[in-house]
Amino acid sequence: MSRFFAIVPAAGSGSRMGAERPKQYLELAGRPMLWHALAALTRVSRIERVCVVLSPEDEWWDEFDWLPLAERLQVLRVGGPTRAGSVANALRVLAADLTAEDWVLVHDAARACITDAQVDGLIEALADDPVGGLLAQPVADTLKRSGADGRVAATVSREAMWQAQTPQMFRLGLLRQALQATPGVTDEAGAVEALGLSPRLIAADATNFKLTYPQDLALAELILRARSGA
Ligand code: C5P
Repeated sequence: MSRFFAIVPAAGSGSRMGAERPKQYLELAGRPMLWHALAALTRVSRIERVCVVLSPEDEWWDEFDWLPLAERLQVLRVGGPTRAGSVANALRVLAADLTAEDWVLVHDAARACITDAQVDGLIEALADDPVGGLLAQPVADTLKRSGADGRVAATVSREAMWQAQTPQMFRLGLLRQALQATPGVTDEAGAVEALGLSPRLIAADATNFKLTYPQDLALAELILRARSGA
């Protein structure tokens, strides 16, 4: 029977946040941002181990107490120059004791509002899938393409358009092969698609957004505090 593992790449600098430290360590609802995604993933009983991928130069991780999550957490200081590089390095480490058939869920450190129920739903939907897939949200807004002058160059149909989220769930062997063949992708599904396969889209909700800009912190804080009743 195949097993389930999670990888959380957290080796980015988060430059668009413009903060004094990498965004995954900014305070959010009383914890470092990274805490929230790790906590949700470690609560999913079907996930055997949650691997967090840090930059080898990371000086922040040890500043915080991760003990409450430590039982199913593995810290890998193998971050690469890109997100895909960080994931590929982690997969190489995991390949030593996982089988090619084991499932790997890759989740952004910056999607702090993921819930264990959303992750469990993804696993439930994809556990028998031949390819794998990802959480995603159908585009609700009208889409515009901008021209060089900051004016609208075109309106793009939103029909059948989805925003990709994470976790993205694929079997270890397939994902390694895909990232080796196409390393220049911004998500795992993109690499799998380049092999000619079609990952499944599993409808998610907007609370699983990626914290990117300073104003995103307040919204995430509201969501997390509302859930915890604080
Ligand atoms: O920058 P962005 O928000 O797109 O990054 C997505 C995720 O990939 C974040 O969790 C970030 O820490 C991670 N990342 C990484 N290694 C890099 C760049 C980004 O692990 N070199």
